Amino acid sequence: MPDPRHAQLDWDPQGQPLSRQFGDVYFARDDGLGETRHVFLEGNELATRFASLGHGRLVIGETGFGTGMNFLCAWQLFEQTAPEGARLHFVSVEKYPLTLDDLRRALALWPELKSWSERLLDGYVALHPGFQRLVFDQGRVTLTLLIGDVLEQLPELDARVDAWFLDGFAPAKNPDMWTPALFAELARLSAPGATLGTFTSAGFVRRGLIEAGFEMRRVPGYGRKREILRGVFAGPGLEHRPAWFRPPALPRGSRRALVIGAGLAGCASAASLAARGWQVQVLERHGEPAQEASGNPQGILYLKLSAHGTALSQLVVAGFGHTRRLLERLQQGRDWSACGVLQLAFDDREAARQARLAEVYPGLTELLDRATAERLAGIGLPAGGLFFPEAGWLHPPALCRALLDRPGIELLRHHQALSLERTTEGWQALAEDQVLAEAPLVVLTTGADSNRFAQTTWLPLKRIRGQITCLPMTPASAGLATVLCAEGYVAPPRDGAHTLGASFAFDATDLTPTAAEHQSNLGLLTALSTDLSERLEAQALNADSLAGRAAYRCTSPDYLPLVGPLADAEAFASAYAVLRKDARQRPQTPCPWLEGLYINAAHGSRGLITAPLSAELLAAWIEDEPVPLPRSVAQACHPSRFLLRRLIRNEG
Ligand code: SAM
Repeated sequence: MPDPRHAQLDWDPQGQPLSRQFGDVYFARDDGLGETRHVFLEGNELATRFASLGHGRLVIGETGFGTGMNFLCAWQLFEQTAPEGARLHFVSVEKYPLTLDDLRRALALWPELKSWSERLLDGYVALHPGFQRLVFDQGRVTLTLLIGDVLEQLPELDARVDAWFLDGFAPAKNPDMWTPALFAELARLSAPGATLGTFTSAGFVRRGLIEAGFEMRRVPGYGRKREILRGVFAGPGLEHRPAWFRPPALPRGSRRALVIGAGLAGCASAASLAARGWQVQVLERHGEPAQEASGNPQGILYLKLSAHGTALSQLVVAGFGHTRRLLERLQQGRDWSACGVLQLAFDDREAARQARLAEVYPGLTELLDRATAERLAGIGLPAGGLFFPEAGWLHPPALCRALLDRPGIELLRHHQALSLERTTEGWQALAEDQVLAEAPLVVLTTGADSNRFAQTTWLPLKRIRGQITCLPMTPASAGLATVLCAEGYVAPPRDGAHTLGASFAFDATDLTPTAAEHQSNLGLLTALSTDLSERLEAQALNADSLAGRAAYRCTSPDYLPLVGPLADAEAFASAYAVLRKDARQRPQTPCPWLEGLYINAAHGSRGLITAPLSAELLAAWIEDEPVPLPRSVAQACHPSRFLLRRLIRNEG
């Protein structure tokens, strides 16, 4: 049966793809590459612009990713012409992504693009609706795919686009896309002087773009095509974001940064900055990275979703895709496993919730009856459930080490920053009176400890202790083939042990594992599967001698992470005091940032899914780059939200 979420293709006798949904070709039949180069690459003068980028970046926006051929041609040209240190951002919207098999078949048409196609195909996994970021060549090339209708996705984009590839099927075949609403979005997202190329010469497209603020001219088309359109955005480039969600200016001085804390949020933040040419020192109080909440032997890629598409759900789907693609670089079996995650339907309410989720997230989830679930899991189960075929478990320290392992990052072990001091050059991280390191930019990635600095006491962070239990595998338990989740979770074995988790304790202050929590974890195991519990001979296990570890999760009051620049709380309250009386006001006073101070924290128990993408979001705030999430989600994760809420509720 055709899958309505993907492109429905027919293949012509020359092996070229045709869209059944639109009744049109993906590219010119006689010379697709030639036309793309003429219309989009030359149309935007990319060869010259790439060559003169220096250490800068260029942002391309595209309507209709299709087979990715335009992207690959732009990437190839970038590689051939741009200096070392330059970066390419490609943002493209696609309503009907090709399946991996179709993409492979379509791209096989272009042997000269093979080297680039292969990299795209390797990264083409876990792509689900919404924003999906793919990072290539250590961050030199970034692709942000917006999966969905262009008229729904572009309004959620926060980017300043330098060059547009206005693709999409012919206006006559796709009239819903070529609308004034689209042209207005292109204008909203254009950097001053942004250029535009399109293959069409339709009069209403030309007039619509002129109306939106582009200067348009007709130029000769490629091959037999008489005319096409080129344009330049003549408007000023408007700033629509409220002052408190505008990225601060880059801190003065060199591109050097300190990241405080080498858990997953810290390692990912360091990697995202290093990818952008920053020299990063990571300060870690322990002797190795990933010694606290990111130190469990196995973490679960558990997607907590809502059928209502909340900010958190959007973050989870986007973050899952990003983490999942990062894992492709690690060793399956040892560092991670795509064994799937089964969320059990442990009661009727949960079963009904899962049935709704399966409708909202097809492809990402599959509803399984009990017999199918048991076959898949390899053990007896109390119920069927919702299966996430692309998810699984990972060894978080392996991901942390992989993220740190790149030029530009230095790990400073046994360095515990206790305070921060502002100097004329930036920030000093100090332990007592000793300066540990200094740099113009600092990122706090110390979980619930992030508000222990004088500048950050206002951050509303909570800590929740969690303990896991390591259960020695038995020959019978080794049959567990997928992660099981209900109130707790248990994973297939890694290194001879299953990870079973996890307890939640709100007021705990001690991290020594306790027998009582091992015992309560064993209770979670029985609820997951009595069969597995028996296979593990759990009855005979003595909670006093079980191995395990405990750590603090860090959460915020709205359960979303805190990612972005930090403001001076008092100055914020006085700069925007007018909001106490009228929350709709948009004062233009620049936000009183703590120049160069940022945070990436409060990932709760889903940091494996949210922390790496949050590092990309952090980098986007720092560099004023295309944001890897819908802007409403990015703003919902912005630390300023709590300062705003206080004013609007007239508190504090
Ligand atoms: N740039 C593509 C390439 O390099 O292969 C070719 C693009 S193809 C001519 C047009 C693409 O636009 C199709 O993949 C189609 O699914 C997509 N598209 C059409 N209407 C759309 C809409 N309203 N929103 C998002 N994508 C759309």
